[in-house]
Amino acid sequence: MKIGIVGLGLIGGSLGLELRSRSYEVFGVSRSEETCQVALECGVADRASTELALLASTEAIFICTPLGAIIPTVQQLIPSLMPETILTDVGSVKTPIVEAITPLWSNFIGGHPMAGTAQQGIHAAQRDLFAGAPYILTPTEATPTEATQKLAEIVKSLGSTVYFCSPQHHDRAVAWISHLPVFTSASLIAACCHETDSTVLKLAQKLASSGFRDTSRVGGGNPELGVMMGRYNRQALLRSLFQYRQSLDQMIEYIEEENWLALRQILETTKAARSQFL
Ligand code: NAP
Repeated sequence: MKIGIVGLGLIGGSLGLELRSRSYEVFGVSRSEETCQVALECGVADRASTELALLASTEAIFICTPLGAIIPTVQQLIPSLMPETILTDVGSVKTPIVEAITPLWSNFIGGHPMAGTAQQGIHAAQRDLFAGAPYILTPTEATPTEATQKLAEIVKSLGSTVYFCSPQHHDRAVAWISHLPVFTSASLIAACCHETDSTVLKLAQKLASSGFRDTSRVGGGNPELGVMMGRYNRQALLRSLFQYRQSLDQMIEYIEEENWLALRQILETTKAARSQFL
């Protein structure tokens, strides 16, 4: 089966490596000749080009560009496609993408692999990125079942676990567990930077260890991704952020009041609840 990938960065490049290892024939499209060359040398694609026309004979295409470029890329791609070609994207927000592309291409299914690293670009591509990770597909009532089944088979072959849901439910769920953590983690780093005593700040920087590494990781990632989350998932993200602020205010209140019993109860509840997410 011939599979196309547009945007040979972390996710697109990793998909290429993985799909080729599963005997799919991968056709990659990049904006730069240099990336096409790297893609061929690193085994990300069997064929690579800067022209979307390369994908004319492919049966399924993954759009792996940043969120803001997904819809324009599909608009440019459509004239080159066979009518039965399945289109999907990997963007971390689904509602605006699915609403814009579904009327343009009936065989479109929104997708989102819950996998990534803090790196970007083709050199960040790696094997096994999707193994064991959830991969969400958001077909609509109008999506042909056969297209959804074919795409689900490809995704399962990556070693991912497929989940189906509506684009709206996807966006609200990822606002909690993926987008909110980026902003709370970034706020943590920003708050620490407000220490005015340079001796204390330098000492804190030297002492930072595994706890700080865990809690600051997603706040220290690709800034462009965070901006896209805020821009394209604004409503759901704000809802989560407002709730987070409320939870934080509650803890501040208990500490100010020296209400150690109430504080303990909250921390007992969060300790027990964490295992339901992980
Ligand atoms: P990335 O490493 O920066 O790769 C994106 C690639 O898209 C770039 O390498 C570039 O490839 C191409 N591109 C960049 N700007 C473009 C533009 N204006 N127009 C067309 N193509 C452009 O980023 P990524 O992490 O792989 O993210 C790609 C998509 O995956 C995003 O939609 C993101 O929401 C989603 N996603 C990311 C993660 C994560 O943790 N990183 C996880 C799940 C989903 P060429 O140089 O080959 O053109």
